[in-house]
Amino acid sequence: MKNQSKSTFIFLLVLFILSVHIRTHQEISCSHDQDETIQENYRLINEYFQKNPIKNSKDNQNRNLSSQKTQQIRITTDYTRLSQQPEGPAISQAEKDYLISLSNTAITFFSNFIKVQPNTKNSIFNPRQTNGTCLAVVPSENDKTIGIADSDLHLYFSYFSDSKSSELANAGFCNMQQTYTYIRPNFGRVQFNIANIKNVGNKFKSFQNNLKTVIHEMIHVLGFTFGAIELWSNREAYGLLGEEGANKILTTLNLRGIDTYLLGSSNVLDTAKKYYNCSELVGQQLENQGESGSKNYHWERTIIRNELMTASAMLDNTKLSVFTVALLKDTGYWDEVNENLSEPIYWGKDKGCDFFSNACQSTTQRYEEYPADNIQACSFDYDAQGYSTKEDTYGDDCNLIQSYRNRLCDNIDNQSPSIEVGQYNIDVLNDYSNNSKCFISNLKHPNPQYDYEENNLRCHQYQCSSDKTEIIITFSLLPGVQLVCGINDQGVQKDVVFSGFNLGQLTCPTNIMKLCDNQNCVNFCSSNGICVKGSCLCNSGYGGIDCNTKCNGFIDLGGSCVIKCPDNTFANPDNVCRPKCPNGYYAQKSGNLCKLCDFSCSQCIGPNSDQCLACQFLTYLDSNTCVQKCPIGKFADNHSKSCQSCPTGCIDCTSLSSCNVCSDGYEKSGETCIESLCTSPCKTCSSNPTFCLSCYSGLYLSPQNTCVSSCPEGYFKNSLNMTCTKCPIGCKNCSDAKNCTQCDKLNGYRQQGTDCTLCISPCATCSQENPNSCYSCENNMFIQNNQCVLACSKGFYLGKNNVCHQCLDGCESCSDSNSCISCNKDYQLFSDKNVQICINSTSCFSPCSTCSSTFQPTTCKTCESNYYLQGQKCVTQCDLGYFKMQSNSTCVQCPLNCKKCSSLNNCETCYDKYEIKQNDSTQICTQIQIKTSGQLLQLSIMVLLLTLFF
Ligand SMILES: [Zn+2]
Repeated sequence: MKNQSKSTFIFLLVLFILSVHIRTHQEISCSHDQDETIQENYRLINEYFQKNPIKNSKDNQNRNLSSQKTQQIRITTDYTRLSQQPEGPAISQAEKDYLISLSNTAITFFSNFIKVQPNTKNSIFNPRQTNGTCLAVVPSENDKTIGIADSDLHLYFSYFSDSKSSELANAGFCNMQQTYTYIRPNFGRVQFNIANIKNVGNKFKSFQNNLKTVIHEMIHVLGFTFGAIELWSNREAYGLLGEEGANKILTTLNLRGIDTYLLGSSNVLDTAKKYYNCSELVGQQLENQGESGSKNYHWERTIIRNELMTASAMLDNTKLSVFTVALLKDTGYWDEVNENLSEPIYWGKDKGCDFFSNACQSTTQRYEEYPADNIQACSFDYDAQGYSTKEDTYGDDCNLIQSYRNRLCDNIDNQSPSIEVGQYNIDVLNDYSNNSKCFISNLKHPNPQYDYEENNLRCHQYQCSSDKTEIIITFSLLPGVQLVCGINDQGVQKDVVFSGFNLGQLTCPTNIMKLCDNQNCVNFCSSNGICVKGSCLCNSGYGGIDCNTKCNGFIDLGGSCVIKCPDNTFANPDNVCRPKCPNGYYAQKSGNLCKLCDFSCSQCIGPNSDQCLACQFLTYLDSNTCVQKCPIGKFADNHSKSCQSCPTGCIDCTSLSSCNVCSDGYEKSGETCIESLCTSPCKTCSSNPTFCLSCYSGLYLSPQNTCVSSCPEGYFKNSLNMTCTKCPIGCKNCSDAKNCTQCDKLNGYRQQGTDCTLCISPCATCSQENPNSCYSCENNMFIQNNQCVLACSKGFYLGKNNVCHQCLDGCESCSDSNSCISCNKDYQLFSDKNVQICINSTSCFSPCSTCSSTFQPTTCKTCESNYYLQGQKCVTQCDLGYFKMQSNSTCVQCPLNCKKCSSLNNCETCYDKYEIKQNDSTQICTQIQIKTSGQLLQLSIMVLLLTLFF
């Protein structure tokens, strides 16, 4: 009974801890253009550059490019507006110092992150670009006239205080500088909400979190801003991207029921395709929810949750990833961006197109990123114990694991905020520390003070092996007890035993690499540096593994501050002298320094910065350089991130097992290349290995089915099908099917232009039977009766194609077939319409059958059949007033006053004023008698009409 009541009390206590303390979900965001001045600012700059277009030519750019070397960016600062402002909210010296400390640390980061061609002059604020202000800050006269020395980017810092707002800060650039070789922002402003950015709780962890916010804001200044995509630099065109350019890289899609912008600038697009393993993508998604300054200005939370450039600060660690690096490259502003300062992320990685588009709404898959309703689980990167919720403003209504505020494993403050919680953590072996992560675990202390309801999440301490394939989990309360999880143990539940006593089960994490890529730095770099991939990058003046030692030089292995590292040691990014440099740096022997690798290398070896050992996300190592595309004969191997040789016999491949083109001596067999059975240089052959059917490149298939480099006599190299092709008939040597260079003289062929011919000169072409019977002639001679002549003979005229044609009969000379000029004896010239011909005495033209006199060929005496003689013409229809007399084929005149008749006795129509009169069997025309009565006249007209009709 006693025990039971005690455990009930503790159970209630745990519920209290879980439900009251933990679920204080708070979202604080970055909203850059909630302040309308930011949008107005970009609109003004855009307007300025439209009125003042960039005039420098590409030539100028090229001329100057070679003389410009890049160096680490110099960001200068103006903190004067962080002092108490006359009308502004109260700000203490401590608050100001805190903001300055954050900003200076962020600048340490950026000086290692960005390289530029240095500004060789003072940076001058041009008030015409933005109506004189920099996002509500008024620059000093000095900034507008003399300018800022040694500055590539000058930042104004200001503050406000609004405890009701969720806003952390906002930022943007406000002036751009153009030189012969670059266009980029050179002035910007960052504004903090001191009500939300402050030093609370675990001060080192809080500093590191706030530092991420400041870096986030500065990245907005560097061009990660939806409002200024048109102002991005188009390096190829040496100008701004403009509206057209911006439209080319932005697409809108309805995803998960929400209209979403996708950014498809080149590096971002390539990164997205590779990261999600989806080649169809058009870009990476921008945030599609939230207020105007959050929406579009950040990466979409749902598909890349813990990226630094998502819209709100998170309790979990956020990371600057390859996506943000890619975007900064795509702004065209910054010559080099150091991908080595980005951190690995895993959210949605390699999950494919369905994940990218549908996420938690997928109908085909359930992704671990989107857990079921109402569960408790470790957060995705193992940072904390949490619960599934749709509360995230930017989460597209997907279930996401939200970390409990007091269950962040790396916050030692959570270990014992009260006696009860402290005891609970002891009893369940919860370890909150700098290097603790969340595990599925139900371990309990061998001697717990209380019993608790079953809960299977714990924070435990761990250590990663250097290759990140193994972790060792330890327990601060039980020294000596440890659990090892290797790659093969991922997801495996293991018993943990202490002195023969089973403490419970712990499940090895499902992704050890992910856990080890998410390690904290010792003491979160003590507020004197930034943690990148588990190592501190210390501000100058500080050093040590946690940046906690004041030292203006470097700290040697004995812990002393020295001006130069001792020989065989090199100054690491934490200013500690070590025998080696970390990835992304190489040892410079002369200065005993670790120098930044060329940003194309993720690892490099001296003595020069660009001798790479490993490459960035989008590139592959090929003999110490990093390339986007592997050379011929090699393929891009994603596992080793290097160019690997294609397998034997393959010249173009996409992997070891997939060949596109085989090399000489090999032939395709499925996806691979096998040694060819044909005898080289046969490429393909019949069943006889020496009987070639095709040859390797450069060789031609001969008529004997061998492979030759020069074809035999009478054949030419036909590069269309790589065979020796026969020359035309009579040709011994030709360059192609149309051009003979040597004819077969032995067989009577002779050169005729580019052809060979048997025809006897001056015949150019001739009858096959008779080489003297010409079809065409050489030297523009004329052809007449199959002979070549210099001019057409008398009685011939020149027609088309140099052919002489005979004139018509009786023609002595003519100009064409219808135009006689003179006639032979006994002929006379006769002209009619378009013809001029010669006629003889008996000539008589159709349709005359006989003519009435000599040399009168159209004066008919009799006609051909079906024609009728009318006068001296032959006609098919007689004129009006005539009728056809069939008996003698003539046209005979109708009787007097008759207009139309069928015989001499049968008139059908009379001329005016005459009428038909029936007389016996004849119908003749008589003069019309005028009647007095109208009625009778009418009647007679009716009779006439009736007569006509019947
Ligand atoms: Zn932001």
